[in-house]
Amino acid sequence: MIRPRAPVTLTLPEAHGLVLADDVVAQLALPVFDNSAMDGYAVRAEDIAQATGDHPVILPVAEDIPAGRTDTLTLRPGTAHRIMTGAPVPAGATTIVPVENTDGGVESVAIRQSSPPGKHIRLAGEDVAVGTTVLRAGQVVTPAMLGLAAALGLAGLRVIPHQRVLVISTGSELVTPGTPLQPGQIYESNSVMLAGAVRDAGADIVAVTTAEDDVAQFSAILDRHAAGCDVIITSGGVSAGAYEVVKDAFGRSGDQGVEFVKVAMQPGMPQGIGRVAGATIVTLPGNPVSALVSFEVFLRPALRRAMGLPDPDRPRRPAVLTESLTSPRGKRQFRRAVLDADTGSVVSYGPPASHHLRWLASANALLDVPEDVVEVAAGTELRVWDLS
Ligand code: AMP
Ligand code: MG
Repeated sequence: MIRPRAPVTLTLPEAHGLVLADDVVAQLALPVFDNSAMDGYAVRAEDIAQATGDHPVILPVAEDIPAGRTDTLTLRPGTAHRIMTGAPVPAGATTIVPVENTDGGVESVAIRQSSPPGKHIRLAGEDVAVGTTVLRAGQVVTPAMLGLAAALGLAGLRVIPHQRVLVISTGSELVTPGTPLQPGQIYESNSVMLAGAVRDAGADIVAVTTAEDDVAQFSAILDRHAAGCDVIITSGGVSAGAYEVVKDAFGRSGDQGVEFVKVAMQPGMPQGIGRVAGATIVTLPGNPVSALVSFEVFLRPALRRAMGLPDPDRPRRPAVLTESLTSPRGKRQFRRAVLDADTGSVVSYGPPASHHLRWLASANALLDVPEDVVEVAAGTELRVWDLS
């Protein structure tokens, strides 16, 4: 239901964390040219073959080659070029003598140790040959991949872009944290939580807003922000009450692009899904636990799949319940839980009701209790979603 965006070329920093849309074939060799692996002297190996501590070979130093010197040099037999790490090895030089094996001379140098041909020379192309496929479509762009791309001279990479997500909280009782509360008001907590979950899933936030239970205000927010979004997430206003702004805005019949359904799960029973202004809209229930659990169940996997990201689903593993619990018949229950990965045990954490944010904040797993299960004894193995 969430559609992938078409691949685009983004700058390297922008591409970080996204999925490569194409293979990357090297158009440049790495190293780019033969260069020195040490600070020292470029010489012909045969000119210093007899060098020892007692009988150093003394050679005139004809050139000084710092890294970044761009003219092409040739070493004449019987001479040395002082050379720094990363500087181009002059034509005719066959080995590098590290400065530690010399007197470090500038006009002439006393070389105290022989060095075989090729020693301390990084050859052009030994890391990457031109034409090598160095990165594959489907890989997630890591810092090391950014480094490789930059070393190859690439300013950008073709990637599957972030999904662009709009988050709208609804509720006339909601007040932005940091301002005083009137009686009957509560602080708005879903939008910052859902936006964090969106970013955590690897997607981008376009805007985060709050609407009162007022259809005109809600619709105006949609009009203002929906264009260019891939996904719109709302919270609240979808249950069975009188002032259900999201339901009212789209009509309850489903003919305005959004279908409202009851899902056999707890928490998170009232849900809606549809398409609005070219975007997928998912209308989550307002209870904070319901909203975040619903995000985990429906949105996180779909967002990650649309971006081609690995592990769209949280790791699911069996764990042994340390205490008994009950679960409603006919509903798949997701309980907040603390998983001890070392012992493979899990404890249900906090009451099942969907307003207990405190427990959610400290849980590291969701207990996945199947719909046909009503009682689970301590010691039973259950499936958990590892959120850590
Ligand atoms: P609703 O789904 O709109 O009926 O809301 C269900 C419950 O969740 C009510 O107690 C609301 O006050 C609460 N709620 C809804 N949205 C939010 C929100 N954004 N932040 C905190 N609590 C909320
Ligand atoms: Mg509400």
